[in-house]
Amino acid sequence: MNCPHHCAIFKNSPRSYRDLPLRIAEFGTVYRYEQSGELHGLTRVRSFTQDDAHIFCRQDQVKQEFIRVMEIIEIIFKALDFKNFEAQISLRDPNNQTKYVGSDEVWEKAEQAIIEACREKNLPAKIEYGEAAFYGPKLDFMVKDAIGRRWQLGTIQVDYNLPERFELEYVGEDNLKHRPVMIHRAPFGSMERFVAVLIEHTAGKFPLWLTPEQVIILPISEKSNEYAYKVQQMLEAQNVRVLVDDRNEKLGRKIRDNELKRIPYMLVVGEKEAEQGVVAVRQQGAEDKGLMTVQEFADFVNQTVDKQMNAY
Ligand code: ZN
Repeated sequence: MNCPHHCAIFKNSPRSYRDLPLRIAEFGTVYRYEQSGELHGLTRVRSFTQDDAHIFCRQDQVKQEFIRVMEIIEIIFKALDFKNFEAQISLRDPNNQTKYVGSDEVWEKAEQAIIEACREKNLPAKIEYGEAAFYGPKLDFMVKDAIGRRWQLGTIQVDYNLPERFELEYVGEDNLKHRPVMIHRAPFGSMERFVAVLIEHTAGKFPLWLTPEQVIILPISEKSNEYAYKVQQMLEAQNVRVLVDDRNEKLGRKIRDNELKRIPYMLVVGEKEAEQGVVAVRQQGAEDKGLMTVQEFADFVNQTVDKQMNAY
């Protein structure tokens, strides 16, 4: 993990309260020697990339920093169309407070800051007592996949332990030395796991901006292949990712095959369409959109992509 290295960077120079919050982020490759029986697709691997970051801040900045990280997570979930996500706040076990590091006072403040941050962002979050790590409370985000399984993704954790162990300090407004609060945050968790959950969540039906192939053109017969290539060129010139299915197969077969490939749009073209310079638009899992000119369709794709990418 990268946490100790980021502590070392913090410690490398004297810090004042004015330098805080100090935020350090990286995509770090980490390793874990999982037993071969525990390896599982992209969700459990031996080498993975964490979108790891650490925020060193003052106690009075914890809430604001939580809100900022929640906003990053919101951007990611919206852009990727994760609709059903849940948030969980993990706090101390009220009946056994001896197993935690850090004073009651700082725990109390941090727990309140997380609860208030959720309230301010209108994020409904479930509170779980006794689920906090020994070193601090945390906020986790879970999503459901296509068959209802819950996966943990983003996480934001307060840490009172590492600043203590590394003896991190900053000079406060009062000229005295203070210990900073450390926040670990990983909106994606690990990139590998995130991709796995994204595939399971969408069942392969990615948002239009993300999907590798956005459109496939299906010529009704060989006679229309040439028009299909022309449409492909026109769309490519406008940044649409488009393939042509020019196999010598019946149209019904081509439609069935391409539905399985989860390509969002199919354009059926025959002699009639070629004459009029139009395409017949079919959308996966929705009603046919009818005839459009090639330009109308290109505009439609680009506007949809813009809308998705600016959803936040
Ligand atoms: Zn960390």
